[in-house]
Amino acid sequence: MNFNQFNLDSRLLVGINRLGYTEPTPVQVAAIPSALAGDDLIATAQTGTGKTAVFVLPILQKLLTGPRNRTRTLIVTPTRELAEQIHKAIRDLGAGTQLRSITIYGGVGAAPQIRALRAGVEILVACPGRLLDLINQGYARLDGVEILVLDEGDRMFDMGFLPDVKRILKHVPVQRQTMLFSATFPPEIEELAAQTLRHPKRITIGLSRPARTVAHALFPVPQQLKTALLLALLKQTDTDSVHLTTRWCAHWKRSWNKPCRGKHCRALTTPLPRRPYHPPRRGRLQFTEICTASQPGTGQ
Ligand code: AMP
Repeated sequence: MNFNQFNLDSRLLVGINRLGYTEPTPVQVAAIPSALAGDDLIATAQTGTGKTAVFVLPILQKLLTGPRNRTRTLIVTPTRELAEQIHKAIRDLGAGTQLRSITIYGGVGAAPQIRALRAGVEILVACPGRLLDLINQGYARLDGVEILVLDEGDRMFDMGFLPDVKRILKHVPVQRQTMLFSATFPPEIEELAAQTLRHPKRITIGLSRPARTVAHALFPVPQQLKTALLLALLKQTDTDSVHLTTRWCAHWKRSWNKPCRGKHCRALTTPLPRRPYHPPRRGRLQFTEICTASQPGTGQ
């Protein structure tokens, strides 16, 4: 299989070649034909599978014909990092198309975003909070949207953005193509899919599964008993290396650092991926905390 078989415009093939893509990834093979045909799509695919091109290429192909200078595509994504990645993919793959995208997210001044909206763009790549602000202030108009992408649906839910997403949906025409990407499908995302998509094609690719040697256990425990539970688990577990992954650096430092003192512990509290991750050394009990770069509040 190669990209020629999708019958993409030659300007897009130039972009694909320039990026060095020689053949489509499995999720691209499975999903691009449906996306090009205008079908609604639910894709279970994680970042790293090539999922961005699954929606970017069909979007660019569709926007090559029809009006310019109006918002015809909206891509909603949970973090500014993802928004910038998608924006870059649009710029790279669409280098020869003169189609324009802008990113919209909070934590930065709104003035350049408002100026770009006024100038007219075809594609908005937006985080929910700031987009809603700009809609409510009358700067962002979505009544010309033909394609809607909801990217990383489960993360948007985790980060508490679903109410904002639902408010945004009220401003998008009912008649449109909708693509929903999510690595997992909790009930809230299934409900969103049922409300938002029409007869969607479902594509599931590249789900990561834990190795068969890995056992999982879930301990529902009140906040104040977490430390005691952790210490009890460590006491009864015969291991020379322990990884702790927690959402909040500050919480870890406050509640776990002290009880673990004197036990050959070490914590890496620097958010990834800015510093390299060091695997634990053999023969030492070692605590490694990995904080993701995009915690709630930083992506908006
Ligand atoms: P994504 O899952 O969309 O974040 O893509 C992960 C990485 O794979 C990005 O660096 C893409 O540029 C790259 N990529 C996407 N599609 C292909 C392809 N068909 N061949 C090679 N690399 C690709």
